[in-house]
Formats: sequence, C-alpha cells, structure tokens
Amino acid sequence: MKTLMLSADAPDTAAIAAKLIREGQLVAIPTETVYGLGANGLDEGAVAKIFEAKGRPQDNPLILHICGPEQIGNFCAQVPPAAYQLAEAFWPGPLTMVLPARDIVPKRTTGGLNTVAIRCPDNDVTREVIRLAGVPIAAPSANLSGKPSTTTAQHVLHDHDGKIAAIVDGGPCRVGVESTIVDLTEQRPRLLRPGGIGPEALLTVLGDLVIDKAVTAQIDADAVVKAPGMKYRHYAPTEPVVIVSGSREKAAAYIRRHFEPGDRVLCFEEELPLYEGCAPLSYGREADVNTLSAGLFAALRELDDPAVHQVYARCPEGGGVAYAVQNRLKKAAAFHIVNAEEEV
Ligand code: AMP
Ligand code: MG
Repeated sequence: MKTLMLSADAPDTAAIAAKLIREGQLVAIPTETVYGLGANGLDEGAVAKIFEAKGRPQDNPLILHICGPEQIGNFCAQVPPAAYQLAEAFWPGPLTMVLPARDIVPKRTTGGLNTVAIRCPDNDVTREVIRLAGVPIAAPSANLSGKPSTTTAQHVLHDHDGKIAAIVDGGPCRVGVESTIVDLTEQRPRLLRPGGIGPEALLTVLGDLVIDKAVTAQIDADAVVKAPGMKYRHYAPTEPVVIVSGSREKAAAYIRRHFEPGDRVLCFEEELPLYEGCAPLSYGREADVNTLSAGLFAALRELDDPAVHQVYARCPEGGGVAYAVQNRLKKAAAFHIVNAEEEV
C-alpha cells in the first residue's frame, strides 16, 4: 500500500482522511500530544488493524478521540459531574478521562475492559477529521509498540510506511508527551498517567487525586493494573538508559568518570558545554520545560541506535509537564536512577 502524506494545511485533507477512516482504514493524525494511529473506534475490524500495525498487545486499550464534551454521553455511561468540569477546564487539550463504556464501544477498542478512555484533542484538522468521519477515532500513539512515541509525521512514516493508508502532517507536536489519563470510575479520581496537564492543575478542579502506583514505580508484566499500557516497556530506546540526578556539576563529573566510547549523554541545552567529547544530545532547555517535553521523544528516537551502548540522561525537576517528562524518562530507564550527589 502507498502511504499518502497529507498536509494539514491543504484544503481537502480533512475530507480525504475522514473518508479513509469511514472506509475502515488507518490514518495517522496529528495532536498536540503525539501523533496517533487512528481508525474508526466503533469498527472492530478497523481497530484490529491498529493492533496489527503497532504489534500492540490486545489487552492494551486505545483512546477514543471526540470533538467535544457533548459527545461524552454517546460513548460513556454514568458520567459524573467531574468529567464535565474537567472537560470545561482542559478540553480541547491533553487530558484523557476513563469512564464506564457504553455497549456501542467495541471490546477491541477498550482492550476487553468495561471502561473507555476518551479525549478531545487540541488540533483543528484532527477535530475536523473526526467531525467529517462522523465517528470517534480510536488512536494510540503511532509508534511501533515499545518504541518511543511519534512526535512528527516523519517519525510515523519511519514506523509505518507502506502499512497505513495516510498520515496527516500537522508539523511537530506542541506538548510532545502523551495525554494525562485520569480514571473517574472509582470513588476517588486516580491519575493513571501524567501528561501535559499536571497533577496540581487537576487538583484545582477535582479537589482530590490518587496517584496510581504505575506512575511512580516499575510494574511487572503480569500485574493487574488500571492502565494496562503502563506495565509494558515503553518510550524506550534499545540500549540501557540511566538517569543521573544531582547538581549540574556533580552529574557531569559522575558521567564523565563513567563514560565509555559508544555511550551517549541526553542532557539539557544549557549543559552541552559540560559534555564535550561525550557525544551529548540536548532535548531542550532546562529553563523552559515545554521544550523538554516537546523534544524528548525525538531525542529518544535518535538514541535508538544499535551503535549506542548506554545513555546517561538528565531529568528536569518539578511539577506540571516536568512531572510527565520525569515519568517517561524513568520508564525509558526502567527506574534506574543514580544520585551523583551520593557518589564519590
Ligand atoms: P497510548 O495512547 O499509546 O499511550 O495508549 C493509550 C493509553 O491509554 C494506554 O496506556 C492505555 O493503558 C490507556 N487506556 C486506554 N483505555 C483505558 C481504560 N479503559 N482504562 C485505563 N487505561 C486506559
Ligand atoms: Mg503509546
């Protein structure tokens, strides 16, 4: 199959993409978080193609992308007021809510669960595709399963050229890490995955938030977890990653001491001069955490190279989107962190 590259700016792009979705084909869509691999979320056969193209485990559910809060009730039952309050505060935007699913949503889409994840993306062309298709678009990140997420159309082409009908090229993703996921099906709201909307912002609306253990620790492959996606090896290049925490100077001293040929350093732009001769790669500026979230996955993809032996990574501190960057880097590192302040 020839994969069409459609520019988000071309006048007929949304109509072409919507037609392909209605026909049951796969179309990669740009969002503010990452590129999604989209299909008609109500069509089991179309959704099955997503799992096949990604090599995704069947129990790892997808997110349903919709046009706005008025569509929540079409696909979710027993919607609590908090869902509408969150939608009012953060949609369109990088927030996914988990709610009880209506029967219209196929089990393929929910990974066999009775709940469904739903979100309204902050991307005009993608919302137009959903509107014209007349169906919600089920989409996980458009990377091959286990690989770093796709934040440009070129990343999607690299992973799926010739295997999907089209890619809508909307340029690099603004946020760059996947959406925040909040489960609203229990007594207390639960953060299943940090993303572009930080826990502090959620708390201002919800007044209460449990942080799921899958956010803060490594989860075994056979564990029962609320967000099945959290237990799989994720966001990771092929070689080992270790996070080196501590002050700029102490971290640089530690890394330079342990650095061997074939290793790489993933650091902040401000730190590049400290790593001369250590093949440093910057993923953004520490002073502007939005550049770090936007640049993280492109950098992890660049480091996903068999010639690289070991990656030493620097991780931002703090809340908001920095919390999501910490989570993705810790997952890439399988929670392997050394504190340079404690090393002699
Ligand atoms: P991706 O967009 O590739 O990160 O994949 C979607 C994420 O949403 C996965 O991590 C899933 O585990 C999560 N997800 C989707 N549906 C549900 C659900 N019903 N309950 C909990 N998590 C979900
Ligand atoms: Mg993913």
